[in-house]
Amino acid sequence: MTSSADTTAPGATPRTGTGSAPISGSGHGTAPSAAATDPAGPAVPGSVTAAVHAAGGMADGLLLPWPDVDGEPFWQYALRGELRVQACADCGLRRFPPRPCCPHCHSFDSRWQPTSGRGRIWSVVVAHPPLLPAYAERAPYPVAVVELDEDPRIRMAGTLTPSVRRPDAPWNAVAPGRLRIGAAVQVVFQTVAPGVAVPRWALCASQGNSQGTGQGTGQTGNPS
Ligand SMILES: [Zn+2]
Repeated sequence: MTSSADTTAPGATPRTGTGSAPISGSGHGTAPSAAATDPAGPAVPGSVTAAVHAAGGMADGLLLPWPDVDGEPFWQYALRGELRVQACADCGLRRFPPRPCCPHCHSFDSRWQPTSGRGRIWSVVVAHPPLLPAYAERAPYPVAVVELDEDPRIRMAGTLTPSVRRPDAPWNAVAPGRLRIGAAVQVVFQTVAPGVAVPRWALCASQGNSQGTGQGTGQTGNPS
């Protein structure tokens, strides 16, 4: 089948666009390009992968996400302040993390479907050393696994912030005692390196947080 929507995978052609081109989907029937999968190889100019390469894979001692050909669109949307997940273009099943084939109908056609960015804490842990040095400096800090409101089968991990207005809050800004399973959260995006933004989870106002709004799209002023 052929995809059609603007968020749809471009068929069997691996991503070769530039940074100014529309974000391509991940559907493909051929081998991913080496540019997107070989950490030592060149990346598509303007891609998040290229930005990660330019930063040496790290920022402030923290590991940056390393997109592959399937995951690059996720990070491009993150840079725009949008949380999108892959959805099968044939049966509609959402899936995460990004991958080329639908686990239900085995279709290779997919699109990138917007989400509200709202979810609920499914699990939470508090990180303690031993950790890599830059992480140890920030510990202890909570990390949540969040299930999305649109599809609780989609779960994503991330650090927490007290408010959607504070995408750059320290990782330990939310006391673990405030967190509970099922608490409502909203995605926000923190720019962690030029051209790289990562999702975090902000407690919603309904969780007793006077600063949070629980509304909005998590825009954080990422560079465009
Ligand atoms: Zn499917």
